[in-house]
Amino acid sequence: MSLQVPPKTRLEAIRLSALECTQCSLADGRNQVVFGGGDPSAGLMLIGEAPGAAEDLQGEPFVGRSGELLWQLLADVGIAREMIYITNIVKCRPPENRDPKRVEIAACATWLDRQLQLIQPRVVCTLGNFATRRIRGDQTGIMSLRGRQEKMMLSGYPTTLYPLLHPAAALRSTRNLKFMREDIARLPQILSDPHSG
Ligand code: SF4
Repeated sequence: MSLQVPPKTRLEAIRLSALECTQCSLADGRNQVVFGGGDPSAGLMLIGEAPGAAEDLQGEPFVGRSGELLWQLLADVGIAREMIYITNIVKCRPPENRDPKRVEIAACATWLDRQLQLIQPRVVCTLGNFATRRIRGDQTGIMSLRGRQEKMMLSGYPTTLYPLLHPAAALRSTRNLKFMREDIARLPQILSDPHSG
């Protein structure tokens, strides 16, 4: 496809290709590929781990209990869903909601990389260990990184990475919920900072 084609149109073409993807064994058990969604010209991109049961049925990311909590915490600080593009590092549901395997994350990297190239978000929030490790390319744990800004080049563009806990972790622990609420409270300031990105 020509470079003259608008990013939004190119992203839609990539989404349609991804819906047919069988590059890893997660294709066998899925109902559908959950590519991601939201505003492709958004300054903020959220990246989670993998679709769960509700997402697999509805075809949209973060529509289950974790998603409800995430959207509420963001709304509490004035960030609406329409201001965000959201996706996962793997686009198909792992069986029994197990962790995604390294080989699956690697197979699915091509889709996430293309999303990043076209959206070029100024701020990326990874949600939890798997997404944070995938983006940073090392094994540092989320508890050391949550709520810390880090400038980096992502798919060739400058981005501010701001890792958050995964909302599923916040559902399991009031301490994690407190951390997540505190970290999200700083997001509006990071988004309004002209030096972010
Ligand atoms: S998880 Fe990703 S690589 Fe694997 S089948 Fe689904 S879209 Fe393809």
